[in-house]
Amino acid sequence: MLQFQDIIIDWYDKNKRNLPWRNTNNPYFIWLSEIILQQTRVDQGLPYFEKFVNHYPSVYELAIADEQEILNDWQGLGYYSRARNLHKTAKEVVDIYKGVFPSTYIELLKLTGIGPYTAAAIASFAFDEAKAVVDGNVYRVLSRVFDIEEAIDSTQGKKTFESLANELIDKNNSAIYNQAIMEFGALQCVPVNPSCIICPLQFQCLAYKNKTITQRPLKSKKTKVTPRYFVYVVELSSNQTIRIEKRKEKGIWQHLYQFPLLEFMSIEEKQSYLASLKYKFISKEYKHILSHQHLFAHFAVVEPTIKIPEDQLEIALSELSNFPIPRLIDKFWEEHSGLVEGL
Ligand code: SF4
Repeated sequence: MLQFQDIIIDWYDKNKRNLPWRNTNNPYFIWLSEIILQQTRVDQGLPYFEKFVNHYPSVYELAIADEQEILNDWQGLGYYSRARNLHKTAKEVVDIYKGVFPSTYIELLKLTGIGPYTAAAIASFAFDEAKAVVDGNVYRVLSRVFDIEEAIDSTQGKKTFESLANELIDKNNSAIYNQAIMEFGALQCVPVNPSCIICPLQFQCLAYKNKTITQRPLKSKKTKVTPRYFVYVVELSSNQTIRIEKRKEKGIWQHLYQFPLLEFMSIEEKQSYLASLKYKFISKEYKHILSHQHLFAHFAVVEPTIKIPEDQLEIALSELSNFPIPRLIDKFWEEHSGLVEGL
């Protein structure tokens, strides 16, 4: 009988997508692709990868770039902390390692912003180290093929999966094997309704045999989601200017720009504020889903107050696109900039 590794690699040869970061062993490009692809689909991440490679062809260009420029290029990908960490790590590679990425898993882990997953990916794909790369796809494939009942988000579960993944790795062909199992999870052993009938691992797959596919992988925790109620106040002057401010508070949108923001404790409190507000226009509710928070936002266009607070900037309507802004505001602006202009 063919080995698990042989089946996966054979499947990969026949089915793999042609993705630019697979045709290189440049650690900088591999690192860029891994950061861009975290929490992002491949088709969405691909144009960003190309943009970053063109705009910052080496880690030096990225390290010396202005943070605002990087955030602008990142716009639309969400999770801006990734862009800020990208910048921080690039500076570290240049300052401490003279622009040369460390070449082992252990050394790579010492860099800020590079966790076990990314370190394993760079060590394997760029330097051929026999280190298993365990992403969500790999967790799913292993949990099903071996019908593992341990939760993938528990400490013990993570250890179990990592040690199994490292046991299974094809030591003579580790980079290809890692790519292959990740791709197998992304295209064949997909989260919902995998095509088990045409799967080359069907005869070895214990979850298929035990009819537990829909229960694998197992997760223990449910993420606690906090609702937040926002009103963005768009102060529009008769000269067609608006005011924006830079977000200082820590979080995914730190250092991005926004219209002055009011936050309310409850939906009722927000409704009563909106009912009392004298506005020119009020938007529909925009819902923005983040992993731990659901944001419910309205945009209210109002007459400007007389004095501009020190921490705000007054800009022309057309200038907003020069500033990095959260996707939530971008969505509103895409739909309503014309309307606001005509008010
Ligand atoms: S048989 Fe189904 S569940 Fe098992 S590895 Fe194949 S696609 Fe995944």
